[in-house]
Amino acid sequence: MIHGFNPPQRFLPYLSWTEITQLPDRENTVIVLPTGATEQHGPHLPCAVDTLICAGVVGHALARLPDHVPAFALSPITYGKSEEHLHFPGTITLSGETLLATINEVGESVYRAGFRKLLIVNGHGGQPQVMEMSARELRLRHGDFIVVPGFTWRVPNVASQYLSEKEKKLAMHAGHAETAIIMALAPETVHMERAVANYPPVFPSTILSPDGRPACAWSARDFGESGIIGDPLGATPEQGHVILESLAKSWAQAITELHTLEWAPREQDTWGKSHQNGYIQNTFGE
Ligand SMILES: [Zn+2]
Repeated sequence: MIHGFNPPQRFLPYLSWTEITQLPDRENTVIVLPTGATEQHGPHLPCAVDTLICAGVVGHALARLPDHVPAFALSPITYGKSEEHLHFPGTITLSGETLLATINEVGESVYRAGFRKLLIVNGHGGQPQVMEMSARELRLRHGDFIVVPGFTWRVPNVASQYLSEKEKKLAMHAGHAETAIIMALAPETVHMERAVANYPPVFPSTILSPDGRPACAWSARDFGESGIIGDPLGATPEQGHVILESLAKSWAQAITELHTLEWAPREQDTWGKSHQNGYIQNTFGE
């Protein structure tokens, strides 16, 4: 069934519309939107990695919540902005404009249903900017809408304890941490006999990049044929389970805090009367 990693009772699409209208505190109920991608992750991992990780972490976080914290997951967005991987088959990419419109329209639908707290848990490093743009746009349309554009890995977690200094510095894609967590979430999709280490060259300008990571735009093909940018070779499923639980614990705390969080101002529809057809029109001076 389509609830994936979520406890079925915390999967919003399993409710009827009448059950949703009867939820007691929709304004402070947290709606969680995992946003992933479908893109190559080397020869050893499936193209669904970013979707599996954000949906898996959200599901495990919701499973840890006490009953008195109201929160539901939406179905994950499984296609993202993955143009940097388009040279590899299996990558299915949207444009930034399409993804922005998608997140905006999902957000509008969440708001229309009476919810006022939306948490985006994005799993793909190539699209946090799109989530931030959407969150701001939704906030400007609706003065009482709290939208948090989160990134799966940007909460306290223990992944770094398993990573070498080089991996911490230069790994970006299909490396140790992603491989370990997929070994925990979907072991049948991992083929370690095909895994190889592959790092990008250190960026040749310390003023533009003090840590050596690429300071210019890149395509995965720039760094070699495998599609891997990092070293997955030491990853184990045991590490993956520990990393997964640390991420789930942090996101469960984030959801709990968001449930009770107040954020001023929560006026009704600041610019709500001024946007038409989804476009914001500046009404200053009118
Ligand atoms: Zn990834």
